[in-house]
Amino acid sequence: MKLLLHSWAAEPLLDGRHVRGVTFESKQGRRAILAEVIIDATGDLDLCARAGLEFEAETKAGGAGIAHCLNTGWLWAGVDFARWIAFKRDDPAAYRQLMADAGDALDFAERPVVGWSNDVALFLGPRLSGYSGVDVSDLTRVEVESRRRMVAHLDHFRRQAPGFENAWLMLSAPQIGVRHTRRLLGRHRLTIDDWREGIRHRDEIGVSPSPSQKFANVSVPYRALVARDLDNLLAPGRHMSCDPQTQAFMREIPQCWLTGQAAGVAAALAASGRIAAADVDAGALQAELSRQGTYLQVDAGSTTAMAGGPPRGPKVSITADTPAF
Ligand SMILES: Cc1cc2nc3c(=O)[nH]c(=O)nc-3n(C[C@H](O)[C@H](O)[C@H](O)COP(=O)(O)OP(=O)(O)OC[C@H]3O[C@@H](n4cnc5c(N)ncnc54)[C@H](O)[C@@H]3O)c2cc1C
Repeated sequence: MKLLLHSWAAEPLLDGRHVRGVTFESKQGRRAILAEVIIDATGDLDLCARAGLEFEAETKAGGAGIAHCLNTGWLWAGVDFARWIAFKRDDPAAYRQLMADAGDALDFAERPVVGWSNDVALFLGPRLSGYSGVDVSDLTRVEVESRRRMVAHLDHFRRQAPGFENAWLMLSAPQIGVRHTRRLLGRHRLTIDDWREGIRHRDEIGVSPSPSQKFANVSVPYRALVARDLDNLLAPGRHMSCDPQTQAFMREIPQCWLTGQAAGVAAALAASGRIAAADVDAGALQAELSRQGTYLQVDAGSTTAMAGGPPRGPKVSITADTPAF
Protein backbone atom coordinates (compact mmCIF):
# COMPACT_ATOMS: atom_id res chain seq x y z
CA MET A 1 0.00 0.00 0.00
CA LYS A 2 1.22 3.49 -0.81
CA LEU A 3 -0.01 6.31 1.39
CA LEU A 4 -0.23 9.79 -0.12
CA LEU A 5 -1.03 12.68 2.20
CA HIS A 6 -1.25 16.37 1.23
CA SER A 7 -3.27 15.49 -1.86
CA TRP A 8 -6.72 16.94 -2.49
CA ALA A 9 -9.12 14.80 -4.53
CA ALA A 10 -10.30 16.88 -7.48
CA GLU A 11 -12.01 14.98 -10.33
CA PRO A 12 -13.17 11.41 -10.81
CA LEU A 13 -12.15 9.90 -14.14
CA LEU A 14 -15.42 8.53 -15.46
CA ASP A 15 -15.92 5.70 -17.92
CA GLY A 16 -19.67 5.12 -18.13
CA ARG A 17 -20.78 3.66 -14.79
CA HIS A 18 -17.18 3.10 -13.75
CA VAL A 19 -14.69 5.47 -12.13
CA ARG A 20 -11.24 4.59 -13.43
CA GLY A 21 -9.40 6.82 -11.01
CA VAL A 22 -9.25 10.26 -9.45
CA THR A 23 -7.13 13.33 -10.09
CA PHE A 24 -5.53 14.95 -7.06
CA GLU A 25 -4.19 18.47 -6.58
CA SER A 26 -1.01 18.80 -4.56
CA LYS A 27 2.27 20.70 -4.36
CA GLN A 28 3.27 18.64 -7.37
CA GLY A 29 0.34 19.90 -9.42
CA ARG A 30 -2.43 17.71 -10.74
CA ARG A 31 -1.83 13.96 -10.84
CA ALA A 32 -4.12 11.00 -11.44
CA ILE A 33 -4.32 7.79 -9.42
CA LEU A 34 -6.01 4.86 -11.11
CA ALA A 35 -7.90 2.30 -9.03
CA GLU A 36 -10.25 -0.66 -9.25
CA VAL A 37 -12.50 0.72 -6.52
CA ILE A 38 -12.95 4.30 -5.32
CA ILE A 39 -13.94 5.12 -1.76
CA ASP A 40 -15.31 8.64 -1.41
CA ALA A 41 -14.75 9.37 2.31
CA THR A 42 -14.70 13.15 1.97
CA GLY A 43 -17.78 13.51 4.23
CA ASP A 44 -19.21 15.91 1.66
CA LEU A 45 -19.53 13.43 -1.18
CA ASP A 46 -17.09 15.54 -3.21
CA LEU A 47 -16.26 12.85 -5.75
CA CYS A 48 -19.87 11.95 -6.49
CA ALA A 49 -20.76 15.62 -6.78
CA ARG A 50 -17.85 16.19 -9.15
CA ALA A 51 -19.00 13.15 -11.14
CA GLY A 52 -22.28 14.98 -11.63
CA LEU A 53 -24.31 12.41 -9.71
CA GLU A 54 -27.57 13.32 -8.08
CA PHE A 55 -27.31 13.54 -4.30
CA GLU A 56 -29.50 14.50 -1.36
CA ALA A 57 -29.10 17.66 0.69
CA GLU A 58 -31.20 19.98 2.77
CA THR A 59 -30.61 23.64 1.96
CA LYS A 60 -28.70 25.72 4.48
CA ALA A 61 -31.69 28.05 4.77
CA GLY A 62 -34.00 25.12 5.42
CA GLY A 63 -31.77 23.45 7.95
CA ALA A 64 -32.01 25.09 11.34
CA GLY A 65 -31.01 22.08 13.45
CA ILE A 66 -27.60 21.13 14.76
CA ALA A 67 -26.84 19.15 11.59
CA HIS A 68 -26.61 22.47 9.78
CA CYS A 69 -24.38 24.26 12.26
CA LEU A 70 -20.71 24.73 11.53
CA ASN A 71 -18.22 25.33 14.28
CA THR A 72 -14.59 25.15 15.27
CA GLY A 73 -13.60 24.12 18.77
CA TRP A 74 -10.73 25.56 20.77
CA LEU A 75 -8.49 24.58 23.66
CA TRP A 76 -7.15 26.89 26.36
CA ALA A 77 -4.31 26.18 28.76
CA GLY A 78 -3.19 28.04 31.88
CA VAL A 79 -6.62 27.37 33.41
CA ASP A 80 -7.37 26.30 37.00
CA PHE A 81 -10.41 24.21 36.18
CA ALA A 82 -10.84 22.97 39.76
CA ARG A 83 -11.37 26.60 40.84
CA TRP A 84 -13.94 27.08 38.09
CA ILE A 85 -15.85 23.96 39.18
CA ALA A 86 -15.68 25.04 42.83
CA PHE A 87 -17.06 28.46 41.84
CA LYS A 88 -19.98 26.85 39.96
CA ARG A 89 -20.69 24.51 42.85
CA ASP A 90 -20.31 26.98 45.73
CA ASP A 91 -21.97 30.05 44.25
CA PRO A 92 -24.55 29.00 41.61
CA ALA A 93 -26.21 32.43 41.60
CA ALA A 94 -22.91 34.15 40.80
CA TYR A 95 -22.21 31.53 38.14
CA ARG A 96 -25.61 32.13 36.51
CA GLN A 97 -25.00 35.87 36.58
CA LEU A 98 -21.52 35.47 35.10
CA MET A 99 -22.84 33.40 32.21
CA ALA A 100 -25.73 35.83 31.66
CA ASP A 101 -23.26 38.74 31.54
CA ALA A 102 -21.04 36.78 29.17
CA GLY A 103 -24.09 36.13 26.97
CA ASP A 104 -24.84 39.87 26.85
CA ALA A 105 -21.24 40.82 26.15
CA LEU A 106 -20.46 38.09 23.63
CA ASP A 107 -23.85 37.59 21.96
CA PHE A 108 -23.66 33.92 22.81
CA ALA A 109 -21.57 32.50 25.65
CA GLU A 110 -19.83 29.18 25.17
CA ARG A 111 -19.39 27.02 28.27
CA PRO A 112 -16.01 25.45 29.00
CA VAL A 113 -15.81 21.66 29.18
CA VAL A 114 -13.32 19.84 31.37
CA GLY A 115 -10.12 18.79 29.56
CA TRP A 116 -7.61 16.03 30.29
CA SER A 117 -5.79 17.97 32.97
CA ASN A 118 -6.70 20.73 35.41
CA ASP A 119 -4.97 23.45 33.40
CA VAL A 120 -6.81 22.69 30.14
CA ALA A 121 -10.33 23.78 29.13
CA LEU A 122 -12.17 22.71 26.00
CA PHE A 123 -14.76 24.82 24.22
CA LEU A 124 -16.74 23.07 21.48
CA GLY A 125 -17.13 26.43 19.74
CA PRO A 126 -20.09 28.53 18.74
CA ARG A 127 -22.52 26.67 16.47
CA LEU A 128 -23.00 28.98 13.52
CA SER A 129 -26.07 28.28 11.39
CA GLY A 130 -27.14 29.46 7.96
CA TYR A 131 -23.87 28.45 6.27
CA SER A 132 -22.99 25.67 3.85
CA GLY A 133 -20.07 23.32 4.45
CA VAL A 134 -19.46 23.09 0.70
CA ASP A 135 -19.38 26.83 -0.03
CA VAL A 136 -15.85 28.22 0.35
CA SER A 137 -17.11 31.74 1.09
CA ASP A 138 -19.27 30.37 3.91
CA LEU A 139 -16.43 28.20 5.20
CA THR A 140 -14.13 31.22 5.24
CA ARG A 141 -16.70 33.33 7.10
CA VAL A 142 -17.19 30.63 9.73
CA GLU A 143 -13.42 30.20 10.24
CA VAL A 144 -13.00 33.96 10.75
CA GLU A 145 -16.11 34.44 12.90
CA SER A 146 -15.31 31.42 15.10
CA ARG A 147 -11.84 32.81 15.81
CA ARG A 148 -13.18 36.31 16.44
CA ARG A 149 -15.51 34.83 19.06
CA MET A 150 -12.71 32.72 20.49
CA VAL A 151 -10.58 35.81 21.15
CA ALA A 152 -13.58 37.71 22.58
CA HIS A 153 -14.33 34.77 24.91
CA LEU A 154 -10.71 34.60 26.04
CA ASP A 155 -10.67 38.30 26.85
CA HIS A 156 -13.98 38.08 28.74
CA PHE A 157 -13.19 34.91 30.68
CA ARG A 158 -9.76 36.20 31.72
CA ARG A 159 -11.40 39.25 33.26
CA GLN A 160 -14.53 37.65 34.72
CA ALA A 161 -14.25 33.91 35.29
CA PRO A 162 -12.56 32.45 38.41
CA GLY A 163 -9.82 30.05 37.32
CA PHE A 164 -9.39 31.68 33.90
CA GLU A 165 -7.24 34.71 34.87
CA ASN A 166 -4.10 33.26 33.25
CA ALA A 167 -5.75 31.32 30.44
CA TRP A 168 -4.06 31.32 27.06
CA LEU A 169 -5.05 30.00 23.69
CA MET A 170 -3.39 26.63 23.09
CA LEU A 171 -5.13 25.48 19.91
CA SER A 172 -7.99 26.39 17.63
CA ALA A 173 -9.47 23.49 15.67
CA PRO A 174 -7.20 22.51 12.76
CA GLN A 175 -10.32 21.53 10.80
CA ILE A 176 -13.71 23.20 10.67
CA GLY A 177 -16.56 21.10 12.08
CA VAL A 178 -19.15 20.15 9.48
CA ARG A 179 -21.91 17.69 10.33
CA HIS A 180 -23.83 17.42 7.10
CA THR A 181 -23.78 18.65 3.51
CA ARG A 182 -24.53 16.11 0.78
CA ARG A 183 -25.75 12.52 1.05
CA LEU A 184 -25.29 9.65 -1.35
CA LEU A 185 -28.09 8.20 -3.42
CA GLY A 186 -27.21 4.57 -2.81
CA ARG A 187 -28.61 1.16 -3.64
CA HIS A 188 -30.49 1.31 -0.35
CA ARG A 189 -31.51 4.45 1.52
CA LEU A 190 -31.43 3.70 5.26
CA THR A 191 -34.48 5.43 6.72
CA ILE A 192 -36.50 5.87 9.86
CA ASP A 193 -38.84 3.14 8.58
CA ASP A 194 -35.98 0.61 8.55
CA TRP A 195 -35.15 1.11 12.22
CA ARG A 196 -38.72 1.69 13.43
CA GLU A 197 -39.62 -1.69 11.97
CA GLY A 198 -36.40 -3.31 13.21
CA ILE A 199 -35.46 -4.48 9.72
CA ARG A 200 -32.39 -6.65 9.68
CA HIS A 201 -30.73 -6.38 6.29
CA ARG A 202 -29.38 -9.48 4.59
CA ASP A 203 -26.27 -7.46 3.59
CA GLU A 204 -25.74 -6.11 7.11
CA ILE A 205 -22.20 -4.75 7.64
CA GLY A 206 -22.61 -3.68 11.24
CA VAL A 207 -25.05 -2.56 13.89
CA SER A 208 -25.63 0.91 15.27
CA PRO A 209 -27.41 1.82 18.49
CA SER A 210 -30.85 3.22 17.67
CA PRO A 211 -31.64 6.82 18.62
CA SER A 212 -34.20 5.70 21.20
CA GLN A 213 -34.69 2.75 23.55
CA LYS A 214 -38.06 2.27 21.87
CA PHE A 215 -36.32 0.85 18.81
CA ALA A 216 -34.06 -2.11 18.19
CA ASN A 217 -30.44 -1.64 17.23
CA VAL A 218 -30.08 -0.49 13.64
CA SER A 219 -28.94 -2.92 10.97
CA VAL A 220 -26.67 -1.09 8.51
CA PRO A 221 -26.79 -2.49 4.95
CA TYR A 222 -23.82 -2.55 2.57
CA ARG A 223 -26.02 -1.16 -0.18
CA ALA A 224 -26.24 2.17 1.68
CA LEU A 225 -22.55 2.68 0.82
CA VAL A 226 -22.80 1.70 -2.86
CA ALA A 227 -23.52 4.50 -5.32
CA ARG A 228 -26.77 3.98 -7.19
CA ASP A 229 -25.34 5.39 -10.41
CA LEU A 230 -21.77 4.04 -10.34
CA ASP A 231 -20.66 0.43 -9.95
CA ASN A 232 -17.31 0.82 -8.22
CA LEU A 233 -17.74 3.77 -5.87
CA LEU A 234 -18.39 3.40 -2.13
CA ALA A 235 -19.28 6.28 0.19
CA PRO A 236 -18.88 5.47 3.90
CA GLY A 237 -19.09 8.06 6.68
CA ARG A 238 -21.46 10.91 7.35
CA HIS A 239 -22.60 11.16 3.71
CA MET A 240 -23.81 7.54 3.36
CA SER A 241 -27.23 6.94 1.82
CA CYS A 242 -29.90 7.70 4.42
CA ASP A 243 -32.61 10.12 5.43
CA PRO A 244 -31.93 13.14 7.72
CA GLN A 245 -33.27 11.35 10.83
CA THR A 246 -30.88 8.48 10.23
CA GLN A 247 -27.96 10.77 9.39
CA ALA A 248 -28.43 12.31 12.84
CA PHE A 249 -26.88 9.21 14.42
CA MET A 250 -25.11 7.51 11.51
CA ARG A 251 -22.81 10.54 11.30
CA GLU A 252 -21.41 9.80 14.78
CA ILE A 253 -17.82 8.66 15.00
CA PRO A 254 -18.38 4.94 15.87
CA GLN A 255 -20.87 4.61 13.01
CA CYS A 256 -18.35 6.21 10.63
CA TRP A 257 -15.79 3.62 11.80
CA LEU A 258 -18.34 0.91 11.07
CA THR A 259 -19.08 2.03 7.51
CA GLY A 260 -15.44 2.92 6.83
CA GLN A 261 -14.22 -0.52 7.85
CA ALA A 262 -16.90 -2.21 5.73
CA ALA A 263 -16.04 -0.07 2.71
CA GLY A 264 -12.35 -0.95 3.05
CA VAL A 265 -13.06 -4.67 3.29
CA ALA A 266 -15.52 -4.55 0.38
CA ALA A 267 -13.03 -2.63 -1.77
CA ALA A 268 -10.33 -5.23 -1.05
CA LEU A 269 -12.70 -8.08 -1.97
CA ALA A 270 -13.76 -6.33 -5.16
CA ALA A 271 -10.20 -5.51 -6.23
CA SER A 272 -8.84 -8.99 -5.46
CA GLY A 273 -11.80 -10.66 -7.18
CA ARG A 274 -11.69 -8.18 -10.09
CA ILE A 275 -15.39 -7.49 -9.69
CA ALA A 276 -17.37 -4.28 -9.25
CA ALA A 277 -17.85 -3.11 -5.68
CA ALA A 278 -21.60 -3.32 -6.28
CA ASP A 279 -21.21 -7.07 -6.96
CA VAL A 280 -19.36 -7.98 -3.77
CA ASP A 281 -20.97 -11.02 -2.17
CA ALA A 282 -22.63 -10.03 1.11
CA GLY A 283 -21.74 -13.36 2.72
CA ALA A 284 -18.05 -13.02 1.86
CA LEU A 285 -18.06 -9.46 3.14
CA GLN A 286 -19.76 -10.48 6.41
CA ALA A 287 -17.39 -13.42 6.86
CA GLU A 288 -14.35 -11.15 6.64
CA LEU A 289 -15.93 -8.48 8.86
CA SER A 290 -16.77 -11.16 11.44
CA ARG A 291 -13.21 -12.45 11.29
CA GLN A 292 -12.06 -8.90 12.06
CA GLY A 293 -14.36 -8.79 15.09
CA THR A 294 -17.34 -6.87 13.74
CA TYR A 295 -20.59 -7.57 15.58
CA LEU A 296 -23.28 -8.77 13.14
CA GLN A 297 -26.84 -9.87 13.86
CA VAL A 298 -27.06 -11.92 10.68
CA ASP A 299 -25.07 -15.13 10.38
CA ALA A 300 -21.61 -14.51 9.00
CA GLY A 301 -21.17 -16.10 5.62
CA SER A 302 -24.89 -16.39 5.01
CA THR A 303 -26.25 -14.72 1.92
CA THR A 304 -29.78 -15.74 2.80
CA ALA A 305 -30.23 -14.16 6.24
CA MET A 306 -33.62 -12.52 6.25
CA ALA A 307 -34.50 -8.88 6.52
CA GLY A 308 -36.91 -8.19 9.38
CA GLY A 309 -37.81 -10.43 12.28
CA PRO A 310 -37.71 -9.69 15.99
CA PRO A 311 -34.62 -7.92 17.27
CA ARG A 312 -32.02 -10.16 18.89
CA GLY A 313 -28.49 -9.73 20.17
CA PRO A 314 -27.36 -7.35 22.91
CA LYS A 315 -29.28 -4.10 23.20
CA VAL A 316 -26.98 -1.07 23.21
CA SER A 317 -29.39 1.78 22.68
CA ILE A 318 -28.63 5.38 23.45
CA THR A 319 -31.59 7.32 24.79
CA ALA A 320 -33.61 10.07 23.18
CA ASP A 321 -32.06 12.37 25.77
CA THR A 322 -28.56 11.68 24.53
CA PRO A 323 -27.25 15.05 23.33
CA ALA A 324 -26.59 15.40 19.61
CA PHE A 325 -23.04 16.34 18.64
C1 LIG B 1 -18.17 20.17 16.25
C2 LIG B 1 -18.51 18.73 16.12
C3 LIG B 1 -18.54 17.93 17.26
C4 LIG B 1 -18.83 16.57 17.14
N1 LIG B 1 -18.82 15.79 18.26
C5 LIG B 1 -19.00 14.46 18.15
C6 LIG B 1 -18.90 13.62 19.29
O1 LIG B 1 -18.63 14.09 20.40
N2 LIG B 1 -19.10 12.28 19.12
C7 LIG B 1 -19.37 11.72 17.90
O2 LIG B 1 -19.51 10.51 17.80
N3 LIG B 1 -19.49 12.51 16.79
C8 LIG B 1 -19.30 13.85 16.90
N4 LIG B 1 -19.41 14.65 15.80
C9 LIG B 1 -19.75 14.03 14.48
C10 LIG B 1 -18.56 13.31 13.86
O3 LIG B 1 -17.36 13.87 14.35
C11 LIG B 1 -18.53 13.43 12.33
O4 LIG B 1 -19.81 13.29 11.77
C12 LIG B 1 -17.61 12.33 11.76
O5 LIG B 1 -16.29 12.54 12.24
C13 LIG B 1 -17.63 12.32 10.26
O6 LIG B 1 -16.61 11.46 9.80
P1 LIG B 1 -16.30 11.33 8.24
O7 LIG B 1 -15.03 10.53 8.15
O8 LIG B 1 -17.50 10.86 7.50
O9 LIG B 1 -16.05 12.82 7.73
P2 LIG B 1 -14.95 13.87 8.19
O10 LIG B 1 -14.57 13.67 9.62
O11 LIG B 1 -15.44 15.20 7.76
O12 LIG B 1 -13.65 13.44 7.34
C14 LIG B 1 -13.53 13.73 5.98
C15 LIG B 1 -12.04 13.82 5.67
O13 LIG B 1 -11.87 13.93 4.27
C16 LIG B 1 -10.98 15.00 4.00
N5 LIG B 1 -11.40 15.55 2.72
C17 LIG B 1 -12.55 16.21 2.44
N6 LIG B 1 -12.60 16.53 1.14
C18 LIG B 1 -11.47 16.04 0.59
C19 LIG B 1 -10.95 16.04 -0.74
N7 LIG B 1 -11.63 16.59 -1.76
N8 LIG B 1 -9.73 15.45 -0.95
C20 LIG B 1 -9.03 14.88 0.07
N9 LIG B 1 -9.49 14.85 1.35
C21 LIG B 1 -10.69 15.41 1.58
C22 LIG B 1 -11.17 16.00 5.14
O14 LIG B 1 -10.03 16.81 5.26
C23 LIG B 1 -11.38 15.05 6.30
O15 LIG B 1 -10.15 14.67 6.86
C24 LIG B 1 -19.11 16.01 15.86
C25 LIG B 1 -19.09 16.82 14.72
C26 LIG B 1 -18.78 18.16 14.84
C27 LIG B 1 -18.74 18.99 13.59
